[in-house]
Amino acid sequence: MSNLDILFPVSLSNSTLSHSCDMKFFRSNIQHLKSSLTNPDLLAGGAFANACELARKAYYNEGLSEEEAIELGEEFILTSPDTGHSIKTNERVALTFKKYIKSFPFTKEFKPCVLADGSHAIEYFFSLDTGIKHPDLPDRNIKYTGLLDGFYEKSVNGEVIGRYVLDEKTTSRVSRVKGTKEVDLEREADIFRASSQLIGYSVAAQRLNNIKITSGLIRRVPIMVKHEPAYELDIPITQFMRDQWEVATYERIRELVERYIYYRDNVKDNSSMFPHSVFYPSYGSSCNAYMKMCGYAAGCLHKQGEKELAMIFDQTVGTMSEDGQRGLTSLAEYKKGLGL
Ligand code: SF4
Repeated sequence: MSNLDILFPVSLSNSTLSHSCDMKFFRSNIQHLKSSLTNPDLLAGGAFANACELARKAYYNEGLSEEEAIELGEEFILTSPDTGHSIKTNERVALTFKKYIKSFPFTKEFKPCVLADGSHAIEYFFSLDTGIKHPDLPDRNIKYTGLLDGFYEKSVNGEVIGRYVLDEKTTSRVSRVKGTKEVDLEREADIFRASSQLIGYSVAAQRLNNIKITSGLIRRVPIMVKHEPAYELDIPITQFMRDQWEVATYERIRELVERYIYYRDNVKDNSSMFPHSVFYPSYGSSCNAYMKMCGYAAGCLHKQGEKELAMIFDQTVGTMSEDGQRGLTSLAEYKKGLGL
């Protein structure tokens, strides 16, 4: 029996679906247990991403020069909340941002695609209807949503030679060619070759905007004590990958909905049952991914663990207003807003 409230998510993103442990998915997306602590890596990455967006919009949409656009981005990072990171300080992130744009300048030969509504695909939020009914909201279908750095196209002599999902990723770890300081680009690319995120975003580009993506373009931006230049990885995406991704992703969502209904109707209020019998814990590598213990571990270690989780975490749902502002609201308020 659980005293914690539940709600199946109204939209699912790549990161919510990629949990390799069903119990982790349950804690994070059905019980909506979130920590109010901030993560310095996320703050640094967020400041970098927002500065890129600001500078690109200033250059491509408002016609500012590259120098002016860079200044805007730099100022944004320096005036953002302190990252609290010992290496990824605001000053170091700002310097890395400046050098990154110098290495990958804004050009007319590599520019954001124009979307169906005429806007540029910079910092593009999409919402794809999966056609799968929400288990508590019969009038709503579950959405697959994402926010990406952009869809871009590359031209040579005025002819488009490729369309890309662009993803800038800051990192503090780089693979090296054995015995050298050189970046091992093949090994780095291998990390992303079957990336669900890149494939899913390319499906959204095709379905929503009729843009056929040829590759994912990952730009790795090291933020380290000693500056290292950013580098680019071109990850091909085929139609075969897109077709398989759609089948597998929608099947996974249907299966999660079925489990949720079973849990809601048979387990939640049954004092002799635990959610673990419906959302199986992996007890595997995801328990200590990135050398950090899973935040929900207490719930998998002993019978009363869920009570501990209820004390450590808040039940909150991330929201986004019409003007793109992100916020958090309590699960109870959120459900009220949905009429539940
Ligand atoms: S501790 Fe391990 S098994 Fe439990 S929720 Fe986390 S990842 Fe899953």
